Amino acid sequence: MNIHEYQAKEIFRSYNVAVPNSKVAFSVDEAVDAAKELGSSVSVVKAQIHAGGRGNAGGVKIAKNLDEVRDYANEILGKTLVTHQTGPEGKEVKRLLIEEGCDIQNEYYLGLVLDRATSRVVMMGSEEGGTEIEEVAEETPEKIFKEVIDPVTGLTPFQARRLAFNLNIPDELLGKAVKFMMSLYQLFVEKDCSIAEINPLVTTGDGEVLALDAKLNFDDNALFRHKDIVEFRDLDEEDDKEIEASKHDLSYIALDGNIGCMVNGAGLAMATMDIIKHYGGEPANFLDVGGGATAEKVTEAFKIILSDDSVQGILVNIFGGIMKCDVIAEGVVEATKQVGLEIPLVVRLEGTNVELGKKILDESGLNITSADSMADGAEKIVSLVK
Ligand code: ADP
Ligand code: MG
Repeated sequence: MNIHEYQAKEIFRSYNVAVPNSKVAFSVDEAVDAAKELGSSVSVVKAQIHAGGRGNAGGVKIAKNLDEVRDYANEILGKTLVTHQTGPEGKEVKRLLIEEGCDIQNEYYLGLVLDRATSRVVMMGSEEGGTEIEEVAEETPEKIFKEVIDPVTGLTPFQARRLAFNLNIPDELLGKAVKFMMSLYQLFVEKDCSIAEINPLVTTGDGEVLALDAKLNFDDNALFRHKDIVEFRDLDEEDDKEIEASKHDLSYIALDGNIGCMVNGAGLAMATMDIIKHYGGEPANFLDVGGGATAEKVTEAFKIILSDDSVQGILVNIFGGIMKCDVIAEGVVEATKQVGLEIPLVVRLEGTNVELGKKILDESGLNITSADSMADGAEKIVSLVK
């Protein structure tokens, strides 16, 4: 789960991870009031969307007085920001963060991620902050420093100091930088984050080490023990179909293609997407209905696929291990009864109760093309949507 910058900064404050003073605003008037209350000589008006790259897209503006705050708030609220992380359709800005302007001396990058290669949390830092860290990693990887963290000891003060040295943080601010890193690590672990990214982390003219930007992602599987974080969920930022899928505990991710996929098991779902591409098609989604799905769950899954306007054909690829093929067939028939089916549907079933499943589909009167193998199914659906 992803949250907004202003929400991440609230969590930072509760862990004494230093951030500038700021206030969220939902309207232009609130933005001006917020700036008045902050009372700083310079205020920064920041678009709150679940994507980075706002600065370059005109979503971060420096205001020198309250009139400018009003002008910028007017300009940014309601605007659709297109950044390198939003996709071409962009995201509409519905919230602003009004923040006191900082006298930036230097911008750094600091991030915590779970490194799958070492199965450990890694703290990464670079002196090349503010810019796109992906580019730094690509072109000058030697400018990124990493500390692999032992889960038993946690981040040690020694590691934090070494990272701060490597980033060339000024000597007099090393203590603050180390404290910042230690608190951020504690937050990351206690809140079950999957990513914490601060770009930029800055040192300021008045000797502070602050997070100017804040991105936190959380492990969905741990959200049950973080009611406070679930409260931060902003459904405006999520795909409607993904919201619906999460209600039914389906793993669904919308993609750009036109072939809807319904598959059981994440591995088979990935392979199905690959084989569709192999035959020249583009998947419209990733969908894993899971191991022991009920007919109701399959019905919901099928309805979600059908509600996507860009879907011009559907491939159902099921291997019945724990899952029974007749349950899938019932779900498909039920869903099409409820919402209709006007596009080609190719079904490949294999495994437990496969004969029964095929019989249910045959007797349904639906226009279904059956496939004998994965390759056969992919080839058929690709040619049917062409
Ligand atoms: P994004 O990463 O989405 O572009 P940031 O929050 O990183 O958004 O802001 C972009 C840039 O704007 C920062 O690199 C920094 O230079 C400047 N900036 C952001 N917040 C402030 C602030 N409070 N004071 C001064 N400059 C800021
Ligand atoms: Mg940033």
